[in-house]
Amino acid sequence: MVKISEEMDNLLKDNGIKQEEIQEVIDNAESSGTKLKARDDDLAIAKGVSDNLTMYAVYSPSELVDAYAHKMNILGVTGGEIDDVANDDESEWECAKCGEIALERNVDMTYMGVTRPGPGLVCPKCDEYYVSAGVAKTLKTAESILEEKRA
Ligand SMILES: [Zn+2]
Repeated sequence: MVKISEEMDNLLKDNGIKQEEIQEVIDNAESSGTKLKARDDDLAIAKGVSDNLTMYAVYSPSELVDAYAHKMNILGVTGGEIDDVANDDESEWECAKCGEIALERNVDMTYMGVTRPGPGLVCPKCDEYYVSAGVAKTLKTAESILEEKRA
């Protein structure tokens, strides 16, 4: 169990996430090893899906540091395959399961019938996709625009 401060609790509420849910996301990541860990400190990112909401917890061994969520569904790497590229696309995160450095690659995200690429953090070995807190913010805006169009 990580500590959840009052500030973090408010952030969870803003994102429609319950404390139990985020604890479960972290517990699952810790027991399965499916998480990203920072290459230069002790932070980790865990991910979980419930009710079409993908939740992320950024946490240290003792406490929750950030939490965010998106409704978009990540389909996979844009173009379908993770090709080797010459440019430096290594992120500051590595996959805790296999030790590969997570790559900054576009992933296809779909919501309300619209699919478009967006920046993701991808483990090239495990085919696991994550998004950063900054990207989740832009996704939220995109989701609202799509919801308004539909309404
Ligand atoms: Zn991996």
